[in-house]
Amino acid sequence: MTKSRKKSIWVFGDYRNYYQNRVTLQLISKAMDLAKTIRAEVCALIFGHEIDEWIMEYTAHGADRILAIDDPALKSYSTEKYLAIIEALANQRDPEIILIGATDFGREFAPRLAKRLKTGLSADCVGLDISQDGLLLQIAPSFGGNMLAEIVTELHRPQMATVRPGTFKEIPHDYQRKALVERLPLMKGLPKPRVRLVEYERSVEKEHTIENASVIVCGGRGMGNKEKFKKLQDLAKLLGGDVGATRPVVYAGWADHGALVGQAGKHIKPKILFSFGISGAIQHTAGLGEANFIVAINKNPQATMMKMADVAVVGDASDVLNNLIKELKKRIRE
Ligand SMILES: Cc1cc2nc3c(=O)[nH]c(=O)nc-3n(C[C@H](O)[C@H](O)[C@H](O)COP(=O)(O)OP(=O)(O)OC[C@H]3O[C@@H](n4cnc5c(N)ncnc54)[C@H](O)[C@@H]3O)c2cc1C
Repeated sequence: MTKSRKKSIWVFGDYRNYYQNRVTLQLISKAMDLAKTIRAEVCALIFGHEIDEWIMEYTAHGADRILAIDDPALKSYSTEKYLAIIEALANQRDPEIILIGATDFGREFAPRLAKRLKTGLSADCVGLDISQDGLLLQIAPSFGGNMLAEIVTELHRPQMATVRPGTFKEIPHDYQRKALVERLPLMKGLPKPRVRLVEYERSVEKEHTIENASVIVCGGRGMGNKEKFKKLQDLAKLLGGDVGATRPVVYAGWADHGALVGQAGKHIKPKILFSFGISGAIQHTAGLGEANFIVAINKNPQATMMKMADVAVVGDASDVLNNLIKELKKRIRE
């Protein structure tokens, strides 16, 4: 196989749970931006069995090229097999950049790939850009999330980053788009995985899709207790939205981990965000970058969240919440 001449930005295709997990589409969209600056192509990697649907989806969402391996041996995700495949392909084709979603699989798999390719990796990036000298700027929280560091990989290739789901916006699909699809044979001598998937069962925990919700009602420690916190769900329901939470609230068991917003949780992009009893620590606000309009309710007008808000209401979080629910119900009845 010959080395591709055009620079290439690879995006690892994680199509499991496709309709909720949009990180690959978000990365393809960001890769399209980066590709314009460094005159590269966007290449999606799709491995698995019966993958035509994903080839079509990634093409419609902006990939210029697809490297696809369709084989029953790849039916379930396997770190060992995927590592061997991507290592071999990367050595043949010299991608400039490899982007991987910071999902459970991506987090397990990306550092091993970077080690094999003898390059660096910035984990859990919350931003990507191209520097003046054409390097990938990998923007990641550091020092416990109190600073954002800009990291570059000057000397080694590929430049590699994992990126939080929800960091970028996917572009709308366009089924007229065309991509060059290279269907590759499964290479011989792949390692025998040490782990075998016996069964797959969906988690019973409520699946939060807050990354894609257009209304989010978020609560913090200022809600006071679990019962009062639960009332946020009533407002979310009335507005057709979802509930988010801060870390102390998740640790206290008032909300499940899927609702966590911030550095260690989800990045959200609602049209309107209600923030009840939240101080606005940087680790929380790191997840709010794309919120369009913020209404904050806090008894302390000096709280950071109140200063960030478009509308700041000084008062007791539960009282304001109850009044809002009452008023909305009244208006719905009228
Ligand atoms: C490495 C690391 C990662 C982290 N990641 C995250 C993350 O992803 N997401 C996250 O949220 N946090 C994260 N944190 C924790 C973060 O630093 C803060 O501790 C947390 O966001 C604070 O949550 P809070 O606003 O609910 O609580 P607090 O900071 O205690 O704020 C409570 C607020 O409620 C107000 N209040 C109190 N009573 C009332 C009332 N009756 N009515 C109205 N307002 C009231 C107070 O004035 C205050 O502003 C992380 C921390 C670290 C070190």
